[in-house]
Amino acid sequence: MRIPMVDLKAQYIELKEELDAKLEEILLATQFILGPNVQELEKEVAEYIGTKHAVACASGTDALHLALLACGIKAGDEVITTPFTFIATAEAISYIGARPVFTDVLPDTWNIDPEEVKNKITPRTKAIIPVHLFGHPADMPKILDLANSHGLKVIEDCAQSFGAGYKFVKTGSFGDAGCFSFFPSKNLGCYGDGGMVATDSDKTAEALRALRNHGSRKRYFHDIIGYNSRLDEMQAGILRVKLKRIDRYNSLRRERAVQYNEWLAMQEGVSIPVERDGYYHVYHQYTILADRRDDIMSALSEKEIASAIYYPVPLHLQESYKGLGYKKGDFPVSEDLSRRVLSLPIYPELSPVDVDFISETIRASLACPAKKR
Ligand SMILES: *Cc1c(COP(=O)(O)O)cnc(C)c1O
Repeated sequence: MRIPMVDLKAQYIELKEELDAKLEEILLATQFILGPNVQELEKEVAEYIGTKHAVACASGTDALHLALLACGIKAGDEVITTPFTFIATAEAISYIGARPVFTDVLPDTWNIDPEEVKNKITPRTKAIIPVHLFGHPADMPKILDLANSHGLKVIEDCAQSFGAGYKFVKTGSFGDAGCFSFFPSKNLGCYGDGGMVATDSDKTAEALRALRNHGSRKRYFHDIIGYNSRLDEMQAGILRVKLKRIDRYNSLRRERAVQYNEWLAMQEGVSIPVERDGYYHVYHQYTILADRRDDIMSALSEKEIASAIYYPVPLHLQESYKGLGYKKGDFPVSEDLSRRVLSLPIYPELSPVDVDFISETIRASLACPAKKR
C-alpha cells in the first residue's frame, strides 16, 4: 500500500537517533525485565494521566485481566460492557470466569449507552467496562454516577485513548482502574506487546504489582497465585521516548481528522465521526459510516490506499461467545455500525496532501453509480 493505515517506519526514522541510543543503553545495562525504565515510565504515565499509580504489564489484554482481579471481580460475577469493541475487552472478563453482559452503544460516539447500562444491572453485577472506542471518551460522568449508586467498580478500557479526555480530565483517571495497551499500532505504541494500569488506589496498585509478578511482594515469597505479565526494559525505553511526544502526535491526528471532516462532512452517503462538546478525541482511528462501504474500499485499494473495518462482527455474534445466548437483533446500533463503519488512514506522519488524495478518491467513488454485486 502506498498509504498504509499506520506508518511505523516513518515514525522510527524520525526518532531513530534517540531510540537507537536508548536501546543501546539498555543492552549495555543488561537489566531487561522491570528495570529502571519501567519504573520511570510508570511514574511518567501516572503523572501524565493524573493518577497516583501506574503499573506496567505485558499487554492491554493483561491490563484488563489483572485490573479485574485487583478490583476483586470473581467467577460468577457479571461485568457490563459494549459488544462494539475488540474481543480482548470481553476475553478479560471471561478469563476469570465472570460473565460479559453486553449493552448497546450510542449512535453518535459508538460508546456504551449509560441508559442501557442501567437496565442491565442485576444483584450479580460487579463492574462496568466502558471502552473509549477509537479515541473518543465514553460518557464517564453518567457511568460513574450509575456505578456509585449501585456500588460497582469501573474499569476503563483505554487501549485506544491514550491522552483523550473529558473537560481536561484524562481517560484512565475516571474509574477504579484505567487499562492501556501499547501494541505497536496504538496511538502510543512500543515495538512489541505492552500494557499499563493506572489507578488512584494504593491497594489496587499493590495487588497489581503482585499479580503481574507471580503473586510475589517479596522475592520468592508468593502470597497469591499470580502471573508472568511484566513489561520489559526495551519496550519501556521506547515508550518513554514516544511519551514525550504524545501530545504533539495526538494533535496532529486531530488536525488530519479536521481536514477529513472538511472534505467529507457534506458528502452524501458518508457520516463523519462525532466529537461531543467538552470531549478531547484522539482519533486512534478516523472512522466514517458509509452505506456503500465496499465501493469506497475498492476505489481506495485501486489507488493503493489502505482502509479497514473495525469491527465487522460485534462480540455478541462472535462464534466464541455463542454460549452467552445472544442473537442477531439484540444490539441494533452495534450491528448497524458493523455493517457501515470504515476506518481511514490516520497517523501523525500522514501528510495533508495524502488526506486530500484519500478524500477525493472517496468522493469520486461515490460520484459513480453503485457497483452491482
Ligand atoms: C488493542 C485493544 C485491546 C488489547 O490490547 P493488547 O495490548 O493487544 O492486548 C483491548 N481493548 C481494546 C479496545 C483494544 O483496541
